[in-house]
Amino acid sequence: MQVYDAPLRDMRFVLNELHQDDGFGDLPALAEFTPDLTDAVLEEAARFAREVLLPINRSGDEEGCHIDNGVVRTPAGFREAYSAFREGGWTALAADPEWGGQGLPETVNKLVEEMICGANISFGLYPGLTHGATTAIESHAADELKQAYLPKMVSGEWTGTMCLTEAHCGTDLGLLRTKAVPQADGSYRITGSKIFISAGDHDLTENIIHLVLARLPDAPRGVKGISLFLVPKYLPRADGTPGQANGVSCANIEHKMGLKASATCQMNFEDSTGWLVGAPNKGMEAMFTMMNTERVSVGVQGLGVGEAAYQAAVWYARERIQGRSLSGPKRPDLAADPIIVHPDVRRMLMTMRAYNEGCRAVGNWVSRAIDAERHSEDAEVRQHAADFVALMTPVVKALFTDYGFETANLAVQTYGGHGYIRESGVEQYARDARITMIYEGTNGIQALDLVGRKLPANMGRLLRTFFHPVSAFIEENGGEGPLKRMVEGLQQAFGALQLSTAKIAEKGMKDPEEAAAAATDYLRLLGLVAMGYCFAKAAKIAAAKLAEGGNDAAFYQAKIATAAFFFDRILPQTSACFLAIKAGKKSMMGLDEAAF
Ligand SMILES: Cc1cc2nc3c(=O)[nH]c(=O)nc-3n(C[C@H](O)[C@H](O)[C@H](O)COP(=O)(O)OP(=O)(O)OC[C@H]3O[C@@H](n4cnc5c(N)ncnc54)[C@H](O)[C@@H]3O)c2cc1C
Repeated sequence: MQVYDAPLRDMRFVLNELHQDDGFGDLPALAEFTPDLTDAVLEEAARFAREVLLPINRSGDEEGCHIDNGVVRTPAGFREAYSAFREGGWTALAADPEWGGQGLPETVNKLVEEMICGANISFGLYPGLTHGATTAIESHAADELKQAYLPKMVSGEWTGTMCLTEAHCGTDLGLLRTKAVPQADGSYRITGSKIFISAGDHDLTENIIHLVLARLPDAPRGVKGISLFLVPKYLPRADGTPGQANGVSCANIEHKMGLKASATCQMNFEDSTGWLVGAPNKGMEAMFTMMNTERVSVGVQGLGVGEAAYQAAVWYARERIQGRSLSGPKRPDLAADPIIVHPDVRRMLMTMRAYNEGCRAVGNWVSRAIDAERHSEDAEVRQHAADFVALMTPVVKALFTDYGFETANLAVQTYGGHGYIRESGVEQYARDARITMIYEGTNGIQALDLVGRKLPANMGRLLRTFFHPVSAFIEENGGEGPLKRMVEGLQQAFGALQLSTAKIAEKGMKDPEEAAAAATDYLRLLGLVAMGYCFAKAAKIAAAKLAEGGNDAAFYQAKIATAAFFFDRILPQTSACFLAIKAGKKSMMGLDEAAF
């Protein structure tokens, strides 16, 4: 059964308690967003997710999107839900007030995104991509374009897309063929076909604004010859209302494994009018603004689905009775005990819980840095925060989505055969979560970004933003009690990370394939250390709160229990990562290609 209820207590914990000493300082620009205010936003978002988005999650999966007389139709209830979402001001939550946004901190926005995707990830894609598109327009477009498009996109009247992929080019965008021809009036004519375009067409809004990668005539080959264009579905009239159709059409909707209520479209642009965003041949830079925003958001999508899957699994593990507890019957009044008594079921539930709480804690840490990068008054802090965000973006994207899928898969396993049957609703989570590991750059590409670009950047400066707080925490917290064991575990894993970093730097310098062969294990290792750091800090705070007394003891006890499980059962994965990195590329690349 799909039972999503936003984990508000844990969200308040990461937001208001866990990262107060994160080194990014106070942000006066965000001072008006007091805990009381942000709490009210989170409560209302949780209600919206539970009451409006959750009820159309399963029906949306069953019905999917379809084309009706050339128009893409979303499943029943999506139009009404989107109108309510827009009227509630949710599309404008984190946008700049200059364009009608509410300017809420990213720390709060990402928690709201988690709720939306936990309740209904397909729905989340429509406003999610719009947010990414507005970020790119805001950072790179000319003023007239900003004035004409941003207010309508921020208010949610119009949605946005990102049109990169073509049939022959996904990861390697240097191969793309869509053309842009300059016109005398300063506009461009765009012609080409894109595939897999999320929210490429739909019936939720009166206009759709596409950000399209294309090549100018005589552009250099490869990624150095790509430019970015803004192409509306309908050309706005002088009064801003949508006017003439602009040669943009949806040729087909992709038939997918999951995410069925999100319209993934094959889009044709035929002599469509567009305007350049950013400089000619610098489209990748502009697009990266959008992609980086989206990459963190896709990580949060994985976490959202993971949380929903966990909640469904807990619900079922309490309901389903099979077998007796090995330590004696727990419900002698029933024919058997609920399966939650069995160690293997506990293993699954605790694993899911630890992944979710760990990712939420790391995600909030990164969100704080995003806020500091935007709003700190101190240039050094802004640079420090930007370095940390750049380092952690591929980690958030890949780690959270790997674990989101694993969590969904564990939920299916918790349900046994019933999990494989559609009625249970949990197999949808596995199908929906799977794509998050692929789009916005596959997780393998995220790992290459981390190892190939982020580690060597500025002589390791980015990495130091992560290494310094972790090593300082280890030094300051050698203490006694349960924390001692956790800090020792963290220290060991951190040591493995430092050694792996040195090994990759040394071997990778001589042979780039060595660095590439280590990349996925390295990303996992770094992500686990980040989670370990957050869990150790969380356990320390929880222990202090318990010592103080108060009426929230159950939450803090559970936090320590989850942290203990993480250190016993999940952090040891770092040893396997270390050994794999140490082994190098030899056995991975040794088999002759012809032997496959
Ligand atoms: C549901 C859905 C929604 C999508 N939404 C959008 C959207 O809104 N806009 C958009 O533009 N695109 C979108 N995409 C496309 C998506 O971003 C691409 O599918 C993805 O980037 C991978 O490209 P590809 O499918 O062509 O795989 P390929 O690039 O062919 O990759 C195949 C495999 O090879 C690996 N690989 C490729 N190159 C390398 C390399 N250099 N080193 C190591 N490994 C490599 C990849 O990691 C992958 O495992 C969507 C896709 C789907 C399925």
